[in-house]
Amino acid sequence: MTKQKKKAPAPEAGAAGEGVAGFEALGLHQLVLDAIRDAGYTTPTPIQREAIPLAQRGRDLIGLAQTGTGKTAAFTLPIIDRLIDGPRRTRALILTPTRELCVQVEESFRKYAKHAPIAMVAVFGGVPLEPQERKLRGGVDVVVATPGRLIDHLERQNVVFDDLEVLVLDEADRMLDMGFAPQINRIVSDIPNYRQTLLFSATMPPEVEALARKYLRKPVVVQVGVRSAAASTVTHAVYPVPREKKNALLVELLTQGKEHESVLIFTRTKQGADRVVRDLEEAGVRATAMHADKSQAQRMRALQDFKDGRINVLVATDIAQRGLDISGITHVINYDVPQQAEDYVHRIGRTGRAAREGDAYTFMAPDEIAMVRTIERVIGQPIPRISVPGYDFGTVAAD
Ligand code: AMP
Repeated sequence: MTKQKKKAPAPEAGAAGEGVAGFEALGLHQLVLDAIRDAGYTTPTPIQREAIPLAQRGRDLIGLAQTGTGKTAAFTLPIIDRLIDGPRRTRALILTPTRELCVQVEESFRKYAKHAPIAMVAVFGGVPLEPQERKLRGGVDVVVATPGRLIDHLERQNVVFDDLEVLVLDEADRMLDMGFAPQINRIVSDIPNYRQTLLFSATMPPEVEALARKYLRKPVVVQVGVRSAAASTVTHAVYPVPREKKNALLVELLTQGKEHESVLIFTRTKQGADRVVRDLEEAGVRATAMHADKSQAQRMRALQDFKDGRINVLVATDIAQRGLDISGITHVINYDVPQQAEDYVHRIGRTGRAAREGDAYTFMAPDEIAMVRTIERVIGQPIPRISVPGYDFGTVAAD
């Protein structure tokens, strides 16, 4: 984009907590900041803090977030920021499952774009076509639509998407539940391939993963309201996290979930395994370490306790994995990235499922990025990244 952007001034020291300092740091246009101030927001929510910079950099994004997390502003604000000062063409489309959500999202656009010269329309069924038709033909920057009614307008050529830059699939899981997959397909076929796609969903069942694979390019996953690792909705993922925050992230993942699942964690060193066990126990999670300092009998007992569900978390070193019968275990966390790609494959295999479907999470510190890339080459597929606000080291966008 060549348009001149009036950048907001950097927040001044000591200004945090006053006005919209937290939003100013995101570099949003002054007219957007004015609307945020009018709305009374002072601080971005976690999904906004994480998703807005990624969206501004043009990344495709999967936002795993429920209503109430501020997810609407997480996509609305960067879209308005992008459209301000631009030509009046239809450059953003938001698809929603229901007319209620459609109206709500359009109201959000109206609220956050109140000082900006941006026109939008809500397009949904059950009401006459003509008023929507007039608005579409008059020219709008943003269309918020339910799929069925939008197709009616496309077929009447009331709107064309030749200049579309951003597509948002909001509440994608509900859209699929409601049987909208063919309509989404029809609509996307009218949109240029060179676009940014943002997908929001409360859950990530395989159908939504398939949808993301079809329409998104190298997406970054941002997950808020983290559930237990075991209950997490992405089954095979890498968490970018600085080394010193790995323990805190692990505790966060394992304590947020309601249900107690069994989780097998691999660390590179004995000391690492012991430290993880100590931190988990302090956080109230029963865990046992299994490494070369333990006798064979102790190891067998730990494994049995784990398999019988008496302990939820078993922490093993790379060495201890050899010769270990851990078949039937459903969840694996690689606290350190395995040194050998084969170990990664082996561990995922241990979950008794195919690599794609196995529940496996890998914590990746900055110095482990290269090893993850090697693993991705060996398994022949990219592993989705999950960015947890407050833990990510912020380089996922550079992938
Ligand atoms: P959503 O998750 O998008 O449905 O938003 C939930 C509610 O939070 C809406 O009523 C928003 O107006 C409000 N909201 C969104 N972002 C913020 C923020 N940064 N600070 C305070 N309230 C917000």
